[in-house]
Amino acid sequence: MADIRLEGVGHSYDGGATWALKPMTWTWRSARAYALLGPSGCGKTTLLNIISGLLTPTVGRIWFDDREVTDVPTAGRNIAQVFQFPVLYEEMSVYDNLAFPLRNRRYPKEEIDRRVRQVSELLGLDQVLRRRSRRLDPGRQQIVSLGRGLVRSQVAAVLLDEPLTVVDPALKWTLRSKLKEIHRDTGHTLIYVTHDQTEALTFADEVVVLNDGAIVQAGEPAELFLSPAHEFVGHFIGSPGMNMLPAEIVGDVVRVGQADVGSVAGELPPGPVRIGVRPEFVRISGARTSPGVAARVTGIDRMGAYDLVHAQVSGHPLIAKAEAGSAYAPDTVEFLHFPADRTFLFRDEVRCGSL
Ligand code: ATP
Repeated sequence: MADIRLEGVGHSYDGGATWALKPMTWTWRSARAYALLGPSGCGKTTLLNIISGLLTPTVGRIWFDDREVTDVPTAGRNIAQVFQFPVLYEEMSVYDNLAFPLRNRRYPKEEIDRRVRQVSELLGLDQVLRRRSRRLDPGRQQIVSLGRGLVRSQVAAVLLDEPLTVVDPALKWTLRSKLKEIHRDTGHTLIYVTHDQTEALTFADEVVVLNDGAIVQAGEPAELFLSPAHEFVGHFIGSPGMNMLPAEIVGDVVRVGQADVGSVAGELPPGPVRIGVRPEFVRISGARTSPGVAARVTGIDRMGAYDLVHAQVSGHPLIAKAEAGSAYAPDTVEFLHFPADRTFLFRDEVRCGSL
């Protein structure tokens, strides 16, 4: 296990015209479980392949602790990588597929057997160990591929690229918790690539959010949810994502349309901002009080566990979460209040303050 340090690492596939990964400096700390979260095409796989050595970065240097590995090929980096599409030896049994990375590195026979049985039991593969891997359904094959990435105890890092995409959704929850168990046991540095926020938030010690080739924020799941540093994190994390409304700072007051919605915490120059508040924290009341803003209810989604109240505020859409079975109705006017410690101000998409 090692700290993996990227120093000014960036990658362009077209000779510098565009950057799939913008030059970044970042350290993956030893023994932590990371989720690398971002939309399709944001550079997740590029970043993973740079760490494993499948791709040489256009610029920058990579260190595993104090050993520079920028020019070290994959085989010399001691990394276990699991790809989105399983690469299995189809004619081999599940057991032999799992044992392969260990035999290859000449682990003792008893150790191989112990590790294969441990991992297969945790991942629910113990009943199919003798089966040829081509006879398994695609979901099971993906789990074998995951197991093969986890079977070695001594690795610099385990890199998982969307490892559960074809696994049955109900089973995914179990597998993620098993993965956590394995991580606790082995203490691997683990990077789990996903575009699915639930997967990232339920699994990781730390979530690294990548957008457009750059890390926009990294932190514990609660921190990203409660305190997004960038509009993208507000949108991308949360279901539905953060509401964003155009607003104006006038003196120390924040206005949405003509309404005063609160005071600026600290000092900020006057002018336009965007105000961000999550649906969970918007408070709805029938009473007009200041600060607050009038909203016309446009619809209610009854989600079972809660209601989503859709509204228009100064011509902009907003969603609030309310208790299931709420009495709000379309075409009525309600008043919204934005709590001071949960409402943030953004300029150029970056958080610049709060209420
Ligand atoms: P996905 O979730 O869809 O796999 P990603 O976040 O992993 O996406 P990358 O696959 O790293 O993103 O791609 C980042 C950008 O680089 C994209 O614009 C992609 O089209 C481009 N790209 C990736 N691989 C190549 C390649 N071999 N040649 C040219 N462009 C590439």
